[in-house]
Amino acid sequence: MSTTNTHLHIDGISKSFGDVQALKNVDLKIKRGSFVCLLGPSGCGKTTLLRIIAGFETASSGRLMLDGADITQMPPHKRGFGMVFQSLALFPHMTVAQNIAYGLKLRKVSRAEQGRRVEELLNVIELPEIADRPVSALSGGQRQRVAIARALAIQPPLFLLDEPLSALDAKLRDNMQIELRQLQQKFGVTTILVTHDQHEAMMLADELVVLKDGEVFQAAAPSTVYQNPADSFVADFLGAANIAPAVVSGPGQITLMSQEIALDTVHAVGTKLNAAIRAEHIRMMPLAEAKGLTVGTVTFMRDLGPASELVVTAEGQNLRVRCDNSSVPDLAINSQVALRFDGSRVSLFQS
Ligand code: ATP
Repeated sequence: MSTTNTHLHIDGISKSFGDVQALKNVDLKIKRGSFVCLLGPSGCGKTTLLRIIAGFETASSGRLMLDGADITQMPPHKRGFGMVFQSLALFPHMTVAQNIAYGLKLRKVSRAEQGRRVEELLNVIELPEIADRPVSALSGGQRQRVAIARALAIQPPLFLLDEPLSALDAKLRDNMQIELRQLQQKFGVTTILVTHDQHEAMMLADELVVLKDGEVFQAAAPSTVYQNPADSFVADFLGAANIAPAVVSGPGQITLMSQEIALDTVHAVGTKLNAAIRAEHIRMMPLAEAKGLTVGTVTFMRDLGPASELVVTAEGQNLRVRCDNSSVPDLAINSQVALRFDGSRVSLFQS
């Protein structure tokens, strides 16, 4: 085994389907034992990239290096990756135990060892009592756990998942996300998961890869992507960001919607920029304290329980604002409010 920490190097992979360029020179180094989420809007190339890693699809150019060895041309079954894909459903005519043991049987693992591994995995997924049930008698969540156990039974070098939780209801999906993360840590298996759900990606990933139109826009830890998005697309895609015009008004200072804010930037005075600021990072202030702030009108309100989500229209922009219900003064539609932007929470991008 290689001593480098890079387990899989996706080395300049491109893929075209006729005129459609689904992937453009994707270059990623995936660390051993890490959990990577490929995130992006529909059609950005997530599934294509995962299928190329699995070997179901051939890249138009570029290489896949696993532990330093070129596997670009290796057929899927020789790669021996664990996979949970929608197209790889459980075998309906087999029991749970037979499903989990399937890959072991193909690899001619002894029956005793198969039994031991199935028992261990059923314990890990906390379903020890269902070994002899047909998979048709399982709930959606149970099926997904069995699919995960089947994929991990072969102790794969890579674990690939394509939207594995998208068919589950919200509560079960939440629970399964925690379980999946715990399982992955327990097995220490390098994992790549495709999702279009930003919450899921934030919850699971050590490294988040944000794709758009076949290109990697940012690859970093979720907190980095959230706090320092590479551009306004990433800022907007990862949670409600407001994008508003700003201009560098002096050294260490910008004007954002007529509000002067202390913010260091490399751009010259006078440069026009786009500023991204998240809904939860805008502070609402009483009108009495509006001096130097941005004043707007509440045009939408939604009570989310512990917090409220508002739209405040100010200077021709509709800004989404999220705040604690305990901190909201008496507000109603058409109330005027003052908004404060905090320079440490604003990201700037060239327009
Ligand atoms: P979704 O979230 O909707 O599944 P995705 O990000 O997984 O989207 P892909 O399925 O990888 O996106 O598709 C990327 C692009 O490649 C899309 O424009 C898609 O239409 C195109 N594409 C994918 N597979 C094929 C194919 N077999 N033939 C032709 N075009 C394809």
